[in-house]
Amino acid sequence: MSEPITSPAAGSPFEAIRGLFHQHVVPSYGRFDLAFTHGSGSHVFDVAGNRYLDLGGGIAVNSLGHAHPAITEALIEQSRKLVHVSNLYYHEPQGRLAEALSNLIAPGKVFFCNSGAEANEGLYKLARKYGHDQGRFEILTTLNSFHGRTLAGIAATGQDKVKKGFEPMTPGFRHVPFNNPQAMRDAISPATVAVLIEGIQGEGGVTPATAEYLLALRRLCDEKQLLLLMDSVQCGHFRTGRFQSYQRILEGVPGGENFLPDAISMAKSLGGGFPIGAFWVRSPYADLLGAGTHGTTYGGTPLGCAVALKILEVIRRENLADHARQTGEVLQRGIEALAQKYPAILRGARGLGLMLGMELAENIPSLPGDSAKPVSIRFVNRLHEAGLLTIPAGTNIVRLLPALNLPRIDAGEGLDLIESVAAKLAG
Ligand SMILES: *Cc1c(COP(=O)(O)O)cnc(C)c1O
Repeated sequence: MSEPITSPAAGSPFEAIRGLFHQHVVPSYGRFDLAFTHGSGSHVFDVAGNRYLDLGGGIAVNSLGHAHPAITEALIEQSRKLVHVSNLYYHEPQGRLAEALSNLIAPGKVFFCNSGAEANEGLYKLARKYGHDQGRFEILTTLNSFHGRTLAGIAATGQDKVKKGFEPMTPGFRHVPFNNPQAMRDAISPATVAVLIEGIQGEGGVTPATAEYLLALRRLCDEKQLLLLMDSVQCGHFRTGRFQSYQRILEGVPGGENFLPDAISMAKSLGGGFPIGAFWVRSPYADLLGAGTHGTTYGGTPLGCAVALKILEVIRRENLADHARQTGEVLQRGIEALAQKYPAILRGARGLGLMLGMELAENIPSLPGDSAKPVSIRFVNRLHEAGLLTIPAGTNIVRLLPALNLPRIDAGEGLDLIESVAAKLAG
């Protein structure tokens, strides 16, 4: 195993880069003290040459890892032909990608944009258009959800911390407890037009919807003529072992094969690091947003769509759906075993496939300087020192959202690194 990574020295290349950020970049992010130069597969290298195993995947974005030759190839080939023409015209890659995404879900149509928040904006506008002539506009979402940082996104998100300081909120959103169909039913008003949930809450700490919840919401939405919208920005794109998390959650569940949301937002893994977002909407509603009602200049560029198509091709060719499911199980079992061995540090693991949350114990020993921080941040910092990248969620969850092609040997390295930190903290 490699030497523990020490803090960067004053005057180091890292300090210089951080200085640029302090002076010139809006300080809206709490960043870790790491600066990266390049990567390969599931590893990245910092400016001092230290190597890290990346189990965070750029927050579930780098679906094929770093510097994948197929993505590089697609970028080069397509950029030699056509990068952008705007949505005033047709081009083949956008049509082909829309076809491919619908083939993976069900008959419907796709709108392309550039990020997850923007994909969700499309869902809000779809719902408002759907209910407009009846005066319905309200969208019910869940507590602990996350739907992005735009003004409507923070109104939709069921966490106060993203709203603070930005009031008044965009009207038309209310929140109810997750995985509680009765709470959703009770919250419906004459103005309600849609329900929006994540198949697996991501930022909220990796909480999957139950099969009963999904089926109950579908019945409720049918009964009350509400659109059932799913935010699959983080949990989609084969991360769970199926294209959509609801397909995985409902596997083998009676009635599950007939479940279908009315619309689904996507981003993150869709472009593997190239910014692209999308929403899919099923047939009866697919033409609601007619010409002139919605748009974006960059959405679905030939370049972005060529990359996304290439990623789908690699996922299919290398059967990365099954790989993600199996490798996720290896990681989950490994973390459960570590939780048995170090109960004062680790409580267990939750999630599906390669969307995993490590649950931390409440009183992990702190090191000087970080005792005020939540245990999730403290643990992530200790993992950085060991050479492992992960993503904190809330106060006591650390997420693993690695590349879908994470090699088995790298999963093993990840478990070894987690164990080295747990063992040290357990003293
Ligand atoms: C990341 C995320 C978003 C926001 O996506 P951006 O690309 O950051 O705008 C929305 N919903 C969920 C569930 C996410 O995980």
